[in-house]
Amino acid sequence: IEESEKFRIEYWELEEAKLRRMPAPKPLATRIALVTGAGSGIGKAIARRLAAEGACVVVADLDGEKAGEVAEELGGPDRAVAVTVDVTSEEQIAEAFKAAVLAFGGVDLVVNNAGISISKPLLETTARDWDLQHSIMARGSFLVSREAARVMAAQGMGGDIVYIASKNAVFAGPNNIAYGATKADQAHQVRLLAAELGELGIRVNGVNPDGVVRGSGIFASGWGAQRAAVYGVPEEKLGEFYAQRTLLKREVLPEHVANAVFALTGGDLSHTTGLHVPVDAGVAAAFLR
Ligand code: NAD
Repeated sequence: IEESEKFRIEYWELEEAKLRRMPAPKPLATRIALVTGAGSGIGKAIARRLAAEGACVVVADLDGEKAGEVAEELGGPDRAVAVTVDVTSEEQIAEAFKAAVLAFGGVDLVVNNAGISISKPLLETTARDWDLQHSIMARGSFLVSREAARVMAAQGMGGDIVYIASKNAVFAGPNNIAYGATKADQAHQVRLLAAELGELGIRVNGVNPDGVVRGSGIFASGWGAQRAAVYGVPEEKLGEFYAQRTLLKREVLPEHVANAVFALTGGDLSHTTGLHVPVDAGVAAAFLR
């Protein structure tokens, strides 16, 4: 046997062994999830849905009080624990994962959802705005995913990482340079990490919501007023406006985003990684006036 042929065979055997080791996704009832930004809006809906499917949930949020309320609602210490975490801090992220391991014995599903929205015209966007926006979304989700990968690799059982990115990761709108750019960063993290972590059985996917007005702290704290001004509609009509511009003429609610996280992690999409699922009632699918 020639040297190159020997290498090819050995390499192939190695690859086969890897495939045999590849863990299949586990049902949600056996899983331990950590959701960032789970004290409010979309993250809260995701935590609720994963808990309803039987997962133990670590409710991680900068706002510890809100996180505590959600953990309580989900059944208390046996089912859900709250951790106060700022995703810009490596130390606090490490502590949050440690808390998850102490409470439930591990982590095999992580959702990068925490976020803020700095939505200003280019000429009004300061370097500080840019840094703050990116430190929470781009850098924060990178740090959370890195810790998730460390824990999941050590467990050797695969896992799921989901990014709540945005329609704005792909499509451009006015006054959105900092937020849009950081969402595009998150979207590419999905592909990069899917490529790197696939052989460990860790799947990395994204969800791209749009127009989730009801229940969203981001919309309530300035983004809504800003968007209403951009589109020339009263703020209280924003939900309706978003619904009207969709193909389905439906308003997107936090629960619809949670449904997509369930679809991606619940087992049926076991052979999907590196994908972004739009949850926007069709806005990204067609150009509408
Ligand atoms: P939200 O304000 O209701 O929830 C965001 C949560 O993140 C809050 O609980 C907040 O305390 C937490 N958070 C903020 N900074 C943090 C930090 N440094 N560390 C830890 N937690 C922090 O807003 P939402 O609308 O539910 O948004 C959730 C995610 O969905 C965000 O990433 C947002 O960009 C994304 N998203 C929302 C929409 C929408 O229409 N609402 C559309 C696309 C994407």
